[in-house]
Amino acid sequence: MPENQHNSSNDNKLVDFEKRCRQHGLKITPQRVAVYKTLVGMDTHPTAEEVCQKVRDEISNISLDTVNRTLHTLSEIGAAFVVEGTGQPRRFDGGLEDHQHFLCMKCGKVIDFHHKPFDNIDIPDELKGQFKILRKTVYLEGLCGMCMHIENKSIIE
Ligand SMILES: [Zn+2]
Ligand SMILES: [Zn+2]
Repeated sequence: MPENQHNSSNDNKLVDFEKRCRQHGLKITPQRVAVYKTLVGMDTHPTAEEVCQKVRDEISNISLDTVNRTLHTLSEIGAAFVVEGTGQPRRFDGGLEDHQHFLCMKCGKVIDFHHKPFDNIDIPDELKGQFKILRKTVYLEGLCGMCMHIENKSIIE
């Protein structure tokens, strides 16, 4: 997938991001902006370390710890989120448009897809009373096309 998939709306995203920061009383620091912009520019659902490597093109002395903390801050203010089901290290997503994830259990690729009926999942009433639901999502796992291909080949040979 091309890396600039999300780029067309990135200016709007930055405006939205700055608004979120102000709403939460967070300073808009160059580090926060750089981490946010980097995350949004990657469609690989990167780990903090992967984001850090890229941010260093811009801010060469930024520490992994700062990037990690910033990513969690972004998640807290709703500018990003932790991708479900990928375990440790956590992986982050700056794509806030409605979408779902397919996780390849073999190569670890997280692939975005969008199936509209999955956007509106009904929470059973008995759960509504017990929990505060912050996020609902459908998440699929299995083998991606590439891994399936490799697996099929090795069966034939
Ligand atoms: Zn795969
Ligand atoms: Zn995603």
